[in-house]
Amino acid sequence: MNKKHVVITGAGPVGCVSALILAKAGIHVTLLEAESDLPLDMRASTFHPPTLDMLDELGVVQEIIKQGLITPQFQYRDRQEGLIAEFDMTAISEFTKHPYRVQAEQYKLTRIISKILKDYPHVEQKYSAKATNLTQDDGSVTVHYDTPDGPQSISADYLMSCDGSRSFARKTLNIGFPGYTYPELFMVVSTTDDITEVVPDMCPVAYITDPEEWCAVIRAPEMWRFLIPTDPNMTEEELLDIEFLESRIQGFAPKKQKYTISHSTLYPVNQRVAETYRKGRVLLAGDAAHVNNPLGGMGMNGGVHDGVNVSEKLVQILNEGASDNLLDLYDRQRRSIAVEYVQAHSIRNKKIMEEKDPSIRKQRQDEIKAVLDDQEKSLELMMQVSMINSINKSNAIV
Ligand SMILES: Cc1cc2nc3c(=O)[nH]c(=O)nc-3n(C[C@H](O)[C@H](O)[C@H](O)COP(=O)(O)OP(=O)(O)OC[C@H]3O[C@@H](n4cnc5c(N)ncnc54)[C@H](O)[C@@H]3O)c2cc1C
Repeated sequence: MNKKHVVITGAGPVGCVSALILAKAGIHVTLLEAESDLPLDMRASTFHPPTLDMLDELGVVQEIIKQGLITPQFQYRDRQEGLIAEFDMTAISEFTKHPYRVQAEQYKLTRIISKILKDYPHVEQKYSAKATNLTQDDGSVTVHYDTPDGPQSISADYLMSCDGSRSFARKTLNIGFPGYTYPELFMVVSTTDDITEVVPDMCPVAYITDPEEWCAVIRAPEMWRFLIPTDPNMTEEELLDIEFLESRIQGFAPKKQKYTISHSTLYPVNQRVAETYRKGRVLLAGDAAHVNNPLGGMGMNGGVHDGVNVSEKLVQILNEGASDNLLDLYDRQRRSIAVEYVQAHSIRNKKIMEEKDPSIRKQRQDEIKAVLDDQEKSLELMMQVSMINSINKSNAIV
C-alpha cells in the first residue's frame, strides 16, 4: 500500500471505473459524490465492445452482461421504407473479445463497482459531498466540498473531475467549454411492452430516419426506449403529457391497445468539448470534458475510455515514477478523439436521422445498402460504430 492519493469528484460511470483502476493499483482514492446515494437515473444504456473489453480487465464485465442484454445486431430503418440494412457485429470478433453491444442502464455499472470498492480499505466513498472549490500548487491539490455537517476539504496528489457536464473543476479553473446547445429538447419514452409483438423484425438497436420525427430505438433488459426529438414550440407540460408520450410510440409501432409508459425523460443536448483536459494536477474526464448527442451511444462510452486512459497514466506516474507529462499525452489523445471522432460522428448521425431532402435520404439509404453488400466496407462501418477505431486512433497519438 502506498500513500499516493487521488480525489475523484462524481460517482458516475467514469468516476467509478477510474476509482476501481486506481484502487486495484493500491492508490488511495477519495470518491466525492454530491448526491446522497448513487444516482439511479435513466441515461446511457449502451456498452460498446471496447468498453466491455476494458470492464473485462477490471473483472466486472460478467456482472454487467448478467444484468444486461447482449445485442450483436443493429439496424438502420426509415420510418416510411422500413428496414434498410441490418449489421451483425459478430464480424468484428477478431478485434474484440465482446463483438456485441450490451444494453444495460449506466446505474447498473456504478452499483456493481461501488460495491466492489467497499472491499478496498484505501478507498473512501463519500456521499452528500459536493465539491465547490479547489486550489493547487506544485505538490498537491486541495478540494473543498460541502457536506450536511458543513464545509470540509481534502488534499491529494491529483484530482479527477468526473462530475458531469457542469464540472465544478472546469468552471473553477475557467476552462472554456465551447460548442452549442440544440434548440430542441430530446425525449426518451420507455415502455415495458414488447415491441417485437407489433414490429416483429425490430432489432434491439434501431436507428429510424425521418424528416419530421426520427427515433433511436434501444431495448434495455426491462424496457424498450424510444429516443426522439421534440418540438421547441411545445411546453414541457405538453411534452410530458401521458397521452402525448403514448402517441409517440404508437407512431413507430402502431397497435390497437395502449402502450404502458414506464418512464420518460426530457433533456437538453449539447455538443461541447473542454479547451483542455488538464490543468496542473486537475484532470477532466467524461461529461466534464465533453458532451454530445446520444446518437451512437458515444457519451458514456467515450467517457469511460477517458477514465481508463488517464487512470492508467496516473498509476504509471504515482507507482512507477513516470513523468507527469503523460497527462499532457492524455489531453492530446482523448481531446482530439472527442473533437475529431465523437463530435464529428454524433453531429453527422443526427443530420442523417433528420435529413429532409428526399434525394439525399435516398442516396444515404442506397449507400448503406451498398456497405452491407461489401464485406470490407461493412467491417469498416462496424469498427467505427463499435468505437474500436476511436480507441485505435487515440492510442496511436504520441
Ligand atoms: C437524461 C440523459 C439521458 C442520456 N441518455 C444517453 C444515452 O441514451 N446514451 C448515451 O450514450 N449517453 C446518454 N446520456 C449521456 C450519458 O449519461 C453521459 O455521457 C454519462 O453519464 C457520463 O458519465 P460521467 O460519469 O462523465 O458523468 P455523470 O454520469 O453525469 O456523473 C457525474 C456524477 O457527478 C456528480 N456530481 C456532480 N457535481 C458534483 C460535485 N460538484 N461534486 C461531487 N459530485 C458531483 C453527479 O451527481 C453524478 O453522480 C444521457 C444524459 C442525460 C442527462
